[in-house]
Amino acid sequence: MSGAAEPTLYERALGAYLGLAVGDALGATVEFLTPTEIRQQYGELRDIIGGGWLKLRPGQVTDDTQMSLAMGAALLESGAWDLPNIARHWLAWLKSKPIDVGNTCRRGLVRFGRDGSLEAPFSDGDAGNGALMRNLPAILFAFRDAELLARCSIEQAHVTHHHPFSDAATLCISRMIALLLQGGHWRDNLRALRGLAKELVETHRQFRFEPYPKRATGYVIDTAQTVLHAFFRTDSFESCVVTTVNLGGDADTTGAIVGMLAGAYYGAAEIPARWLKKLDASVRREIEHQALALVALGA
Ligand code: MG
Ligand code: MG
Repeated sequence: MSGAAEPTLYERALGAYLGLAVGDALGATVEFLTPTEIRQQYGELRDIIGGGWLKLRPGQVTDDTQMSLAMGAALLESGAWDLPNIARHWLAWLKSKPIDVGNTCRRGLVRFGRDGSLEAPFSDGDAGNGALMRNLPAILFAFRDAELLARCSIEQAHVTHHHPFSDAATLCISRMIALLLQGGHWRDNLRALRGLAKELVETHRQFRFEPYPKRATGYVIDTAQTVLHAFFRTDSFESCVVTTVNLGGDADTTGAIVGMLAGAYYGAAEIPARWLKKLDASVRREIEHQALALVALGA
């Protein structure tokens, strides 16, 4: 990072969106495995090869990327923040029989389909990472306005996930990515990102990620700890995402989230070409379109 020119806004936006998809596609291979199982089966997983419990084609993405693309499509269709349209796009996605859906997402969308309500009631069981993993289109749209960013992030989250830990992690990671989209020098950015992570930990001690507790599950605390640990301990896009997914657990989702963050930090040019080549071509095209259009929509 230190020697290269800082990425432009579009390189950061595209880096975040492509980073999400390649993190998802890479991590899905080892979702639900332990680090030991990964070592035994793959050594270190560094290439997008598909497989995993979902038996994916190499480069195929899962719900993390698909729910993001559905939100992005809804935003671009409406030309404004339009939560009912986002929920409608998610419900249509659910009805398309996707390869994978989280339980809390499914429950929330079924509720929306039944009664049209846009907010799940508070539930202790809603502290999964499903709201955090899909928020990037809202960030690309709203990153210039802190208040709008917070409102959009929480509103989209509460359609399915209504829990203070989910809210806190979603806001923290969203603010980190928003900060990067505003540009700035890498050294100042790193300091500011550290500050945002510290704020999260000070508000909810449960998020403390140093020392790393070595749990990478879909519980949003474990997910956020894994993402923050890997991001601050690595110095390239590739090492960041490889480190993350090799911790196993909810590896497609930790990979997707760290991929957005690292993509916004390092820029699209730092994403390994061999990963982009493997990524499903229609997903890649749609991401390239949405990343530019969402940034323009919010301007
Ligand atoms: Mg997934
Ligand atoms: Mg997952």
